[in-house]
Amino acid sequence: MSKPQRSPLPKRSDWVAEQIKTWIAVEGLSPGDRLPQEKALIDRFGVSKGTIREALKSLEVQGLVRISTGPKGGASVASVSANRSTQLLANYFYFQGLTLEQVYAVRKLLEPELAASVVDRLTEADFQALEASIGLCSCGPADKRTTYRQRQAELDFHDVLVNACDNPLLAFNCQFMNSLLRDCTVFRKLYADPDHGDVPSRVHQLAEDGLSAHRKLLEAFRRRDAEEARRLMHDHIAKAERHMIALEAVIERRFIDESRTVDFSDRSRGAKASESPKES
Ligand SMILES: [Zn+2]
Repeated sequence: MSKPQRSPLPKRSDWVAEQIKTWIAVEGLSPGDRLPQEKALIDRFGVSKGTIREALKSLEVQGLVRISTGPKGGASVASVSANRSTQLLANYFYFQGLTLEQVYAVRKLLEPELAASVVDRLTEADFQALEASIGLCSCGPADKRTTYRQRQAELDFHDVLVNACDNPLLAFNCQFMNSLLRDCTVFRKLYADPDHGDVPSRVHQLAEDGLSAHRKLLEAFRRRDAEEARRLMHDHIAKAERHMIALEAVIERRFIDESRTVDFSDRSRGAKASESPKES
C-alpha cells in the first residue's frame, strides 16, 4: 500500500520570503519603503543571516525587493515591472508547448475588447504613434532586416493600445501575447531565411492585410467608434491567425524537406525521402 502523499515543507528561506511579502501587504508598504535591517529580520523570524539573505535574494529576483549595498544600503520595497512579470510568465510557458492556435484563440477574445476599451482614451500622441507604426509598415520590404522591423512595428501598433488601456489585467494579457509573438519560432525561423519558396508571398499577404486593417482601425479610433473598432480588430486578428498558421506550415514543411536532404541522401532510403510532405 502506498503511503499517503504529504506536501513537502517549504524551504526555510521560502517561508521567510512569504512572511516578508505578507508583512509588506499588512503594513501597506509602497515602492521605495525600506525593510527592517538584517539584524531586525533575523530577530523577527528567528533564522540565520544566510536564510534572511536567501529570502531577500529570492524576493529581489521576483522584482518585489531592491537590495542596495554600502553604508546606507539595505532592502527596500520595489514595484514589479511589467517586463519582469512578462519574463517570469514566459519562463512558465516555455515548456508548455503553446501553439499559435492557442495564442490566437485568446487574442481573438481580448484584442477586440482592448480596442473598444481605449477608443475614448487615445490621445493625439497615441494617434501619432499608431501612424508611425503604419508608416513603417507602409514602405515595401527592402531586405531581411526591414521585413523583421516591419513585423515588430506591426506589434508596436498593438502595444500603443495596451499602453492606453486603463484595465491593468487586460493590458498585461495583451502585452504578454504581443511579446510571445515577437519571440515566436515562426518569426525567428522565418527571418533566418525569408526568401525560401512561397514564404515571401505569404509574408507579403500577412503584411498587406495587417496594414489595411491598421489603417481602418486608426480611422475608427479617430471617429471614437468603439463598435467598429471591436469588429475590425476581431477580423484583423482572425486573418492574421490564418496567415501565421499557414506560414508555420510552410516553415515546418521546409524544415522537413531540408532534413530529408541530409538524412535520406542514401539511395537505399530514397523511397522514404520521396514521401510527400505534410500539406499546409
Ligand atoms: Zn495588427
